[in-house]
Amino acid sequence: MASPEVIEQRLRLRRSELLQRAERVDADLRHERDPLVADFADQAIQRSNDEVLREIGDSAKDELRQIDVALRRLIAGQYFICASCGGDIEDARLAALPATTLCAVCAQGSR
Ligand SMILES: [Zn+2]
Repeated sequence: MASPEVIEQRLRLRRSELLQRAERVDADLRHERDPLVADFADQAIQRSNDEVLREIGDSAKDELRQIDVALRRLIAGQYFICASCGGDIEDARLAALPATTLCAVCAQGSR
């Protein structure tokens, strides 16, 4: 099992990656480097690009929230405990999904 220190490091690294991504997306959405265009067809392309950017930003922000929860659980000593049944979360599952709060059985059941 990875130590809480190693896990915290990993979570914080992922967190800073996601923060950078979210900031880049926000900057792109403000069109600081590529100003809004006048041409109607180009505007449509720009809008659909913005749509994709927004989705990327939203998923980064979702994952950020999950990582914040995981960090809080780690600090509280609850990281390895399933939030639903109180049993242990499998090591392999935490390695694959570091921000999960459920054991494999409960994750299956909540689907
Ligand atoms: Zn469970």
